[in-house]
Amino acid sequence: MKESKKELKEKQAIKEKLEKEYKAKIKEYALTNVSSLIYDSDLIKKDILIAHHKFDEFINALKQKKKPAIISGVNPDGPLHLGHAVIFKELIELQKQGADVFIPISNDESYITKKSNSLFEAREIALKDVIPSLIALGFEPQKTFIHIDSDYTDIYNLAIYLSTKLTLNRVKGVFGFNELSTPGSFFYLGSVQEAHILLPQIKEFGGPRITTVPVGFDQHPQILLSRFIAKKANMVPPGELIFNFLPSLKDPEGKMSKSKPETAIFLTDSPEEAERKLKRAYTGGLKSGADQKILGGVPEICPIFLIQKYHFLSLKETKDLEKKCKSGKILCGDCKKQCIEFTKKFLKEHHEKREKAKKQIDKFLIKEKIDIKNL
Ligand code: SF4
Repeated sequence: MKESKKELKEKQAIKEKLEKEYKAKIKEYALTNVSSLIYDSDLIKKDILIAHHKFDEFINALKQKKKPAIISGVNPDGPLHLGHAVIFKELIELQKQGADVFIPISNDESYITKKSNSLFEAREIALKDVIPSLIALGFEPQKTFIHIDSDYTDIYNLAIYLSTKLTLNRVKGVFGFNELSTPGSFFYLGSVQEAHILLPQIKEFGGPRITTVPVGFDQHPQILLSRFIAKKANMVPPGELIFNFLPSLKDPEGKMSKSKPETAIFLTDSPEEAERKLKRAYTGGLKSGADQKILGGVPEICPIFLIQKYHFLSLKETKDLEKKCKSGKILCGDCKKQCIEFTKKFLKEHHEKREKAKKQIDKFLIKEKIDIKNL
């Protein structure tokens, strides 16, 4: 029992550390807590969406049918995983309420950062894995604007235009480049990424409008740069949404990562593969089941709990599971079984939808040309 108490204390300390870090970041970046928002969302009630900048204006624009836009890019160095799916499911909700959704797919970034061997390889992953999954999640073609950078080369004209609003020093200050950084990464982060974020505001897509970008804390500096450029280009500075991330299956302080397959459930994983990974996943429980029955677990840092909370359970069901875990009424073996069942069912259905989605890709790709006369 002494060992179990120590183990529980260590897990609770991780939870407290993460909560403290989140609060400190919200304060440091002058973001607003979501509790003040008048927006009925389970994501807020479940503490998945935790902070924002000007999301209230985005909600007002939705109510006034002003078609705000939301931008969420994908680096196609591998298939999407359950962590990405949390954000895309929320985008679909906002789309149902009237938002346009822009999804730039940056195979140039994959190549520049050496996560892919070539532009072509990353483009293949985008077409074979990423876009079918996005469509299968439920986006509407009329309100979804997907492009792959190397195919939609007009994006580079917009990037060149936006690069004139910046100095080398400002971009260096945000991203901290050093003498080994490549000119490509400089152009990508300083200009192409900004072109992705500001694309919905150019004339061809209706001109300046309210936009928001879901990001992690680490991407906040990029959005600050977007706001700076937007003002200079007579566009509306973008807002941002901060999501609590879905942790790695191996480490409560790490994220699911495409480069470490054992940390994530990919939307392309077979149900059996997902089962194998979940069986081996870290939990917020204790080594001794007998002691866990008395002391309970720490669901807040448990990927098995969080996958269920983020993807499969209602608010009430989430609270029930949390209570059962903390009181030791459920143990990790049974809890994992439940999570495996949910995940396998989801993946089976998702794979069927992905097959149909492969024939619909063209309906979702941007066709509008960017007229350089307008830049
Ligand atoms: Fe996680 Fe479930 Fe174990 Fe609680 S009982 S620690 S929620 S796996």
